[in-house]
This record gives sequence, C-alpha cells and structure tokens, in this order.
Amino acid sequence: MDDALRFAAQAIREAECAVAMTGAGVSTNSGIPDFRGENGLWKTHDPADFHRSRFEASPGEFWRDRLDVDAARHGEHVAPNPAHEALAALETRGALDALITQNIDGLHTKAGSEHVIELHGSGERVVCDDCGRRLAAAPVRDRVRGGETPPRCADCGGVLKPDVVLFGEQLPQAALLEAHALAESADVFLVVGSSLSVEPAASLPGTAADHGATMVVVNLDRTPLSGRVEYDFRADATDLLPRLAAAVDGGAAARDSARP
Ligand SMILES: [Zn+2]
Repeated sequence: MDDALRFAAQAIREAECAVAMTGAGVSTNSGIPDFRGENGLWKTHDPADFHRSRFEASPGEFWRDRLDVDAARHGEHVAPNPAHEALAALETRGALDALITQNIDGLHTKAGSEHVIELHGSGERVVCDDCGRRLAAAPVRDRVRGGETPPRCADCGGVLKPDVVLFGEQLPQAALLEAHALAESADVFLVVGSSLSVEPAASLPGTAADHGATMVVVNLDRTPLSGRVEYDFRADATDLLPRLAAAVDGGAAARDSARP
C-alpha cells in the first residue's frame, strides 16, 4: 500500500491537470445518511415525494416533507471530515485543479475547496423557480418551520425550491459540460467514495481513462472501473486521503530540499 500511495502521490504532483470526483462515501463519516444503503433515506421515505411533479402540484407539502431530510443532511451536527479537508488542502497547494461532486451537502465548500462542480446542485441553497434568484437555504428552512409553506421569493413571488436536482429534472448543463471537459483534459483523475452506479458519475471516469488520465480510486467497495485503474485503494477515504495529501506534500518537500 505504501509504495502505491507514494506513486499515486507522485502522479498527482506531476500532473498538469488533476481532477477529483466524489460521491456519497466521502460524506458518510460526517454522519450523512446515504440514499440507497441499509439505513438509507429510501427505507423511510418515498422517492416519489421528492419528484419535480410533486413540487409543482403541492409545493407546501413537498417542503414540509423535505424538512426531515434536510435536518439529517444540513444540521449543525454535520461538518467536513478529514477526507473533505485533505481535498481542500490539495487544491490550496496547487495539486488539485477541480473537484466534481455528486453530493448536495455543501461540505467540500465548507472545508475550503473553491473550484467545486456540483452535478446535483447544493442543499445549502434555494432557487426561485420563476426568476432563478438564489438564496442561502438555512433561513428559508426556518421560514418553512414557522409556517410559510411554500416559501416565496421576495423579488417576484415565485415559489422557492431547494437548489438540488429533483427526480424528473435535468442535471445543470453548465456543470455537466465543465465536468466532461475536465475529464477529457485530466492527467490524473481521482475518484473518491463513489460506487459509480449513477450517471453521469458512472461514465466520467471512463472518459478520463479514454483520454489517457492516470486513474486513482479510493472506495471501500470494488467499482465497475476496477480493471482500468492504476491505483485502486479499497479504503476509507477519511483514513487514506489525508495520507495521500501528506505524501503529495512530502514528495514536494523532498524534491525541494534536494535542489542545490
Ligand atoms: Zn423570484
């Protein structure tokens, strides 16, 4: 493992463009339940309640149901973990160019990552369904708890919607295009905590590999990509990513001290 870690760190350090993509597995150690697993959200809630058509038909009820879900994902108990922090540190040091995420918890931004492409939006924001104005979600959730169902835009009176991709909605096109462009230009593509079972996350790593990227995967379980990966770490991201970030740093320090 240590040799693999050192070589993966070297690949990241030497890359002109290193890109990471994260899924639910990066946030489970922050106490965020996943959707499909044993204690997943879909064991207790009906996915149909979070469909675009229900938001349109009964936005007030949609918001009341949504409060439960958001309480588990966006409460004060939810904080970035060492995996989010390691990815932010890699970007700060110039070793990571961009981070694509399937998660809507906003934890990468909270950890300090700046170039974050959110494929499914962010539950930390709401968006006016009519004029597109965006607002922080927490005060709007307080308004819903206080009885404003549905919450409305102060500018145009339109209904506010969590700024996340609901079932029945398209992914944000700009984010999708940027993610594809990054996958095509990456020299190193790092996949963290994603089972790669949901599009477009399922196909982005394949695009990167097709364009010659060195592939690094950090995931507890085997992924469909395993045959095409140079460095396949079956590990907990909160354990492995800080070590990988330290190895990226350590190698740079060793190289600098060897200079005359
Ligand atoms: Zn509006």
